[in-house]
Amino acid sequence: TITVGVLALQGGVVEHLALLHRASTSYPSVTFHFLEVRTPEQLSLCDALVIPGGESTTMAIVARRLGLLEPLREFVKIDHKPVWGTCAGLVMLAEEASATKQGGQELIGGLDVRVLRNKFGTQVQSFVADLNLDFLGEGEGPFRGVFIRAPVVEEVMDGDGKVKVLGTVKKPGEEEDIVAVRQGNVFGTSFHPELTGDVRVHAWWLGNVVEALGQRGEGKGLVVGK
Ligand code: GLN
Repeated sequence: TITVGVLALQGGVVEHLALLHRASTSYPSVTFHFLEVRTPEQLSLCDALVIPGGESTTMAIVARRLGLLEPLREFVKIDHKPVWGTCAGLVMLAEEASATKQGGQELIGGLDVRVLRNKFGTQVQSFVADLNLDFLGEGEGPFRGVFIRAPVVEEVMDGDGKVKVLGTVKKPGEEEDIVAVRQGNVFGTSFHPELTGDVRVHAWWLGNVVEALGQRGEGKGLVVGK
């Protein structure tokens, strides 16, 4: 069984769980268990983790209070388990977030990038854009990217190409912005695939989880040929 957690302190938890369940049917030979994570004990049961959208300052404060911040850093940066952050989750997974009015905030880190929070403005400036996400494969059409007070990656800070840019968006009259990145076990998207009916990004990510656990040969993980 592969246990996949969704950090459930705040934000879009049930939406992710619903799409993860649907996406898991793409891997009929693997048994998945999905878990809401609110404690270090629950986190320790997980082979992989989704950090949902919401509000990253709040999420960090609650994580600190529950004693989850250090275990989360270990999960990502020492254990190198697969983690995917959407929107506020991407902010949490960045090594740096641009200064905000609220001042500094604690982050988990793992992606050598600096994010700019709320790049496109407030809630009312939310928008949808068709994205060409090459990693989803050819021929299935663009992915509808839902952007809600979304951050963007404003700088990739690693010098040696470990951070892969997987998606960009270009709003009329604006520069192209980086909205999907991956560095090893850590994946981040500015947009919200869990708010679409489109299961492709979840299915792709679960495929990566299966592969990563298989490659690391962790008995706790994969049940081959079940
Ligand atoms: N603006 C939020 C933040 O910086 C993220 C918004 C979202 O997750 N939809 O944390």
